[in-house]
Amino acid sequence: MADGTGGERKSRSVLIAGAGPAGLTAALELARRGFVPRIVDDGQGPAPLEESRALGINARTLTLLSPSGVTERILAAAQPIVHFRVRSATRVLADVDTRQTPGRFGAVHGLAQGVTERLLIEALAVHGIAPEWQTSVVAEAIADVDKPEVMLRRPDGSMEAVRPDILIGADGAHSAVRKALGAGFPGEALEAYFYLADFRYAKPVDTHFAEITLCDPGMIGRLPVSTDVLRYISTLEDFGSRIVHPEAVAEKTWVSQFRINFRHVEPMARGNVFLAGDAAHIHSPAGARGMNLGIEDACWLAWLIAEGREQEYSALRIPAVKQVLKQTYGLTRLVTMKNPLAIAARNLFAPLLLRFGPARRELLHNIAGYDTPKPSWIDWAE
Ligand SMILES: Cc1cc2nc3c(=O)[nH]c(=O)nc-3n(C[C@H](O)[C@H](O)[C@H](O)COP(=O)(O)OP(=O)(O)OC[C@H]3O[C@@H](n4cnc5c(N)ncnc54)[C@H](O)[C@@H]3O)c2cc1C
Repeated sequence: MADGTGGERKSRSVLIAGAGPAGLTAALELARRGFVPRIVDDGQGPAPLEESRALGINARTLTLLSPSGVTERILAAAQPIVHFRVRSATRVLADVDTRQTPGRFGAVHGLAQGVTERLLIEALAVHGIAPEWQTSVVAEAIADVDKPEVMLRRPDGSMEAVRPDILIGADGAHSAVRKALGAGFPGEALEAYFYLADFRYAKPVDTHFAEITLCDPGMIGRLPVSTDVLRYISTLEDFGSRIVHPEAVAEKTWVSQFRINFRHVEPMARGNVFLAGDAAHIHSPAGARGMNLGIEDACWLAWLIAEGREQEYSALRIPAVKQVLKQTYGLTRLVTMKNPLAIAARNLFAPLLLRFGPARRELLHNIAGYDTPKPSWIDWAE
């Protein structure tokens, strides 16, 4: 209905599968434009607060969530990352001051994913919309992508058939919607695993910097979660014994490990079925882009739907997705290299390069998420 009026467009029914960051953002961005989307999730509720999961919120996401008022609340809760350091065992190789990032927001803030999700849920509640938890989208195959039909399964086993005008699959890496479209998820799995652990300390710790320590081979990253919680992430299984804790550990709040995959679906839409977030692309956490890219997908998709231009979604998003996959792939290779010669060259040249303004600016530009097109509906300078 690309030629419909604004009022006709808003009366279209929208079903969003998945109430993670991407689905919640899609719902919020549609709701604030007058749509009444339905959002369902097969989980019990938002991500548990003790599992920090996707931690980095970049400047582009803060731009995107400004109109809904969520940015202000994120800034009140998050830890600004003012310095980004890379060190070897003995010395600081690079120290980038992220305040040099142009624009009104710092390049990146740290906030546990569960907090971000709760802020989105609260903003959505203002529009009278709440996710329907413990409700799964079930679909073997979507026969008619222009008027998609799926089943919703509730915890009591009851089923409901739904035929929305628009179906958004924001149902994560194992997306049922993507599978029901018969779309592949091509890409590769790296050999490398990432191991992570969050520690709560007995006293507040310095949360103003993020740091990567190169162990050669391997790395350990340190990122702030909250005033007394730090995340350590590593390519080394035994990294726990190598951490130099800044304070006495009160408790280890969360551990996880995952294998790195680089995959994306193309196209990201068929008919009136759209894929956003991890349902459409997954990559390494290097660069903290995953959740941010999904939020970006959701914002663009909601804007396009409101404009009646949603058929442009895939063509608009694919270049951004490819750009981020390429960048995170490069960063991941840099921190997972094993060849001693390559490691020596990296440790010599990367710090030299980062002393130069252009290389530092480009790094900050990418960390801030400014390397994808600026949202056209936001008219102020970032
Ligand atoms: C344990 C864990 C640790 C992680 N750690 C990190 C990290 O350290 N750094 C990082 O950058 N990223 C991390 N991630 C990835 C990050 O969480 C995702 O990139 C981000 O959440 C993507 O958001 P999304 O909304 O696209 O998908 P998700 O957050 O995966 O949300 C998808 C939602 O869809 C729901 N769902 C799934 N199937 C169905 C269905 N059939 N019907 C209805 N609902 C459905 C799920 O319950 C889920 O709530 C981690 C993820 C997990 C699970």
